[in-house]
Amino acid sequence: MLPETLEATIQPDAPVGAQLHAILRDLVLHNRMSPGTRLSESEIAARFSVSRQPVREAFIKLSEEGLLEIRPQRGTFVRRISQAAVMDARFVREAIEADIVKLLARKPDPGLITELRMQLDEQFEAARIDASRFIKLDELFHKTLADAAGKGRAWALIEDLKLQMDRVRYLSLLRFPMIKLTAQHEAIVDAIAAGDQQTAEQAARGHLREILSDLPAIFEEKPEFFETP
Ligand SMILES: [Zn+2]
Repeated sequence: MLPETLEATIQPDAPVGAQLHAILRDLVLHNRMSPGTRLSESEIAARFSVSRQPVREAFIKLSEEGLLEIRPQRGTFVRRISQAAVMDARFVREAIEADIVKLLARKPDPGLITELRMQLDEQFEAARIDASRFIKLDELFHKTLADAAGKGRAWALIEDLKLQMDRVRYLSLLRFPMIKLTAQHEAIVDAIAAGDQQTAEQAARGHLREILSDLPAIFEEKPEFFETP
C-alpha cells in the first residue's frame, strides 16, 4: 500500500521507470512505508497511470539496492534495514572521506573554502529548525568535498551502501545532534583551509564515527525496522 498522501506525480516527458524508482526509493528512505509493507504492482501502476512493466523494473532495481524484497509467489515488500550494511557503509565512508579531506588540505582552494563556509551557515540555520533540510545539506557538504577532490566517482560507488545509512538517519531525525555535526563540519573546513592534512583527516574520521553513535538507541526504540542479526 502506498501512503494516503502522496504528492509525487509522473512527468510525461521523462523516462517513467526512473521516476517511479526515485519516488518509491524516497518513500522507503524517508520511512513513509514501514518494513514489511506489501507493494502492489497493479496499485502503483493505477495510481500513476502507467503500465505494470516500469513498476516491475523499479521493483527489481530497488531490490538490488536492498530496499525491497521480491518474494516469488508472495509479493514485493519493503525490506528491513540491515545493521550490517549500515555499519559497512559507515566504515567505507570513513576510509574514503578521510583520504578526500587529506587531498583537499594538501592544496587548499580558496574558492572551495568560501563555498563550504556558505554551506556551514545554511547548516547552522537548518540545524535549529529543519532536520530534513539538514540531512540534504549534509549530503551536499560531503558530495562537495568528494567532487572538489576529483573523487565524485568514488562517492557514486558508495551511494547504494549509503542508502541503508540514510534510512537510519531519517529514522532518527529527532535525536540527530545537528549543531554538533555542523561544528564537526566546521572543524573539517578549518583544517582544510589551514592546509593541515592530519587534523583534517582526524576531524573527518571523528565525524564519520559520530554519525551513527545513536544506532543502538534507535535499534532499541524501533526494532521492527531492523533485520535480526
Ligand atoms: Zn556530515
